[in-house]
Amino acid sequence: MLPSIKTSSPDETARLGEKLGILLRSGDVVCLSGDLGAGKTRFTQGLAVGLGVSGPVTSPTFTIVNEYPQGRLPLYHMDVYRLNDHQEMEDIGYEEYFYSSGVTVIEWAERVIELLPVERLDIVISRCPEGEDIRSVTLIPHGEGPAALVKELMDFVCTGD
Ligand code: ADP
Ligand code: MG
Repeated sequence: MLPSIKTSSPDETARLGEKLGILLRSGDVVCLSGDLGAGKTRFTQGLAVGLGVSGPVTSPTFTIVNEYPQGRLPLYHMDVYRLNDHQEMEDIGYEEYFYSSGVTVIEWAERVIELLPVERLDIVISRCPEGEDIRSVTLIPHGEGPAALVKELMDFVCTGD
């Protein structure tokens, strides 16, 4: 079964993102999927805190990618919701982000699935019927590095704050 974590508030989702941000390594790619309002941006804001990015992280809806160079590793935050075609990804030079030594987080990643690196961590955030603020966060690693990362994150979630 895939590891899945329930959160019951926006802050809890951000804290989970923060824990992942603390563990991330150079070159990691995190692909976020989930409906509008699921919590992808909230999760990314926490992840940025974990990387040591100071200042607010906002959704890059109109620019496709925002760059935050101030943290422990550079963070590249993409949102491909409004992408019209893959040419726009070519135009921003997406491969230079995906295969960089920084960390790339992509909201709505399933929309560019053909372009994603083979080695990556997919995260699906879904609303739950138990309550309006409940989310399930499912971790789907592709490759050995991401699998190790998921294991570390699950240990981190279980052992403390
Ligand atoms: P997305 O980027 O997936 O469209 P956002 O992170 O921008 O979503 O917004 C998530 C919305 O859902 C926010 O308004 C947030 O307050 C709300 N919310 C309620 N419960 C949660 C939760 N458990 N985790 C994350 N967001 C939540
Ligand atoms: Mg968003």
